[in-house]
Amino acid sequence: MCQISGESPKAAVTKGYSHQAQVPMDTLPEWTVPSTPCGWARLTKLLPVLCSLRALCPVLMARWWQMPSYRREKDAEKCLFYRESIAVEFLKFYEKTAQMVWNEFREASWNYVTNITQKNQEEMLHKDIERSQHTLYFGTRARLFNATAFQNPIIRHMLRKVQHMGKAALPAKELREYNKILTYMETMYSMAEVCMQEGPCLYLKPDLEELMATSRDQKELLWAWQGWRDATGRPLRTTFERYVQLSNKAARLNGYRDMGALWRMEYDVENEASDLEHSLEQLFTELQPLYLNLHAYVRRALHRHYGPQTINLRGPIPAHLLGSMWAQSWVNILDLVLPYPKKPLEDVTKIMRDQHWKPQKMFEEAENFYTSLGMLPLPTEFWIKSMLEKPVDGREVVCHASAWDFYNGHDFRIKKCTEVTIEDLLSIFHQMGHIQYFLQYQNLSVMFRAGANPAFEEAVGSVATLSASSHNHLLNIGLLSFQYQDSEDEVNFLMGIALEKVAFIPFSYLVDMYRWRVFDGTIHKHIYNQEWWSFRLKYQGVCPPMSRSEDDFDPGSKYHISASIPYIRYFISLVLQFQFHEALCKASNHVGPLHQCNIYNSKKAGKLLEEALKVGSSQPWPEVLKRLTGESQLSAKALLTYFRPLMNWLVTENVRHGEILGWPEFSCNFEEREKETVSFLGLELDAEQAKIGQWVLLVLSLVMVLTILMLGHRVYKLCNRTTAGDSGVYFLGMLMEPHQAAQGQWILLGLCLILFVCIIGLIIKNFTQHSKKPPWMIAELWSHP
Ligand SMILES: [Zn+2]
Repeated sequence: MCQISGESPKAAVTKGYSHQAQVPMDTLPEWTVPSTPCGWARLTKLLPVLCSLRALCPVLMARWWQMPSYRREKDAEKCLFYRESIAVEFLKFYEKTAQMVWNEFREASWNYVTNITQKNQEEMLHKDIERSQHTLYFGTRARLFNATAFQNPIIRHMLRKVQHMGKAALPAKELREYNKILTYMETMYSMAEVCMQEGPCLYLKPDLEELMATSRDQKELLWAWQGWRDATGRPLRTTFERYVQLSNKAARLNGYRDMGALWRMEYDVENEASDLEHSLEQLFTELQPLYLNLHAYVRRALHRHYGPQTINLRGPIPAHLLGSMWAQSWVNILDLVLPYPKKPLEDVTKIMRDQHWKPQKMFEEAENFYTSLGMLPLPTEFWIKSMLEKPVDGREVVCHASAWDFYNGHDFRIKKCTEVTIEDLLSIFHQMGHIQYFLQYQNLSVMFRAGANPAFEEAVGSVATLSASSHNHLLNIGLLSFQYQDSEDEVNFLMGIALEKVAFIPFSYLVDMYRWRVFDGTIHKHIYNQEWWSFRLKYQGVCPPMSRSEDDFDPGSKYHISASIPYIRYFISLVLQFQFHEALCKASNHVGPLHQCNIYNSKKAGKLLEEALKVGSSQPWPEVLKRLTGESQLSAKALLTYFRPLMNWLVTENVRHGEILGWPEFSCNFEEREKETVSFLGLELDAEQAKIGQWVLLVLSLVMVLTILMLGHRVYKLCNRTTAGDSGVYFLGMLMEPHQAAQGQWILLGLCLILFVCIIGLIIKNFTQHSKKPPWMIAELWSHP
């Protein structure tokens, strides 16, 4: 059946990497397809014939898999599928080969992202195809087992994982195209730069990010904001449309309606109806009051700094003023919004630089945190093979920080263009969380070497940053020099954390809400950008600082969108990390407010966390969550508890100022609009002058109407005189025959009518031009709180 080019399964699977000496080929078990008695399984014996048309095979298998379950069950009754004992052998064979194939793909990807060259790209694409062939080979076979009838839940679970083929289900030609598109989009993003008119070109990291973080000059911020979108999103627009088509095709071949549904599947639990969207919406609603209070408070502070021309106290915030390229974290504008400016927080970055911290030390500090909990130290290979800093040898690299598992139990790496800042230190704590997860589940089957769900993977590192960024911890490692005195210090501290975490709530929620709608077709390709800003306005209360059009593609200027990485994990992780934090703090016998807890050195907390990480994705995530926190559902309670002192302060402050929560006036007072000119009869006038011009036109048209009436009356009279045989009348001061005068009057009347129509036309044109709204301002969103 469906063998690749008719070889034996082993040959087919190992094809492409057998040249490598270190692969112990002769130790691979032989997986031969056992003969089966009837029905579908028998039919599959005919598949080699069908599969001479190789592309047909996955399609057929997927079709069958999409059949209603009662038909499959009927088939199962008539026919014995492969037995459970055969499944065990099959999975063993999969395990051995998958490790090798995945490892090789990881190596090739690493080589590419740490040295972007054509050759490395080709090698990576080649390895990706091999990996897909492997996935396809085993996926199609795994679908021949009726896993639901098996006794052992682990075997059932494993088979389900292998049956899921992802993009490998695509026909070969389209798979190659899809891989190329994915690489192109990520590379375009990673190599983008914004050039000054006369001067150097700036990369995102560290130049543009630094500029967005530190500049308070609106023009400069706008330049970087616009430049980044012109360099990244805009060129990806048409590619993205094709990406959506192919993604959906791959999803359908796996039995899902569209790619969004396939992404959501990662949060499904066996035998339970998933209502992910509904539960996320509930969480978002619970968190919204906290966000709206922070939004209103920050808007007031920006209003103080930039003035009423830029910030409308009843409107959204222009997206370029929040200290980040995507307005997703606002921590960089802490200096503008600090609740008690007379008690400024110490500048930890400056302290780090004064103490001559190096990237290496930052990583050691993070490792030290995890080992203090009794967790695993990093293997030596980590320090040799990781990329901890941006190379200075001229190599182009993908700077976006990431942690890598090479699936061989000893090779784990981090790629990061580290700068000596407190943000990067905390980001290293986060990446180390991924590595700790890899280390903890390294002995599991390769199929279970993943987080309980993707959000768990993100939450582990983030829970460490909650302790690491606590005042207590920074004081202990010498990055702060004095103790907190009172509640004002506390509120200042919590504001710093909220600008990072609370500000991120709607952004992390909306990115996939948007993409799910793109994948399911609700958002048509002609309105990609308009809808992006609708989501940004609706959930985040930010608006673009300049007009946008459908030539732009602003979602593409976010890494996770151009690199096709699901994003909802960050929203869920935001909630989860506080649930984890509360549980670990309890285990470490912490007393006092949650935001003061630091689990450093607590072996009990470490043990609890370790127990959850060890099981990887082998158990349903609600069970893992229950073991760790005592509750099996996502809950926003811990997050709200953590920020309660700040929330109380914000509410008092906002009431005192009579703040309007939300953005009932949805338009942005961006700079461009202040000096916005209007084209009026070919003249560039400001809006007020244009308005006066319209009134002049209107009066003129009235005068014209009166003139026409007068002329009409005179023509009528002249016509009467002509018929009465009158001898001569005056027309424009000249004596002439009545019929001649009548002709002249007709001409005048015609001219007046033409002028009248022209003036009415101009009035209509100017009226529609001036009242036109930018496309993102959709009526239904105006009333949002
Ligand atoms: Zn992460």
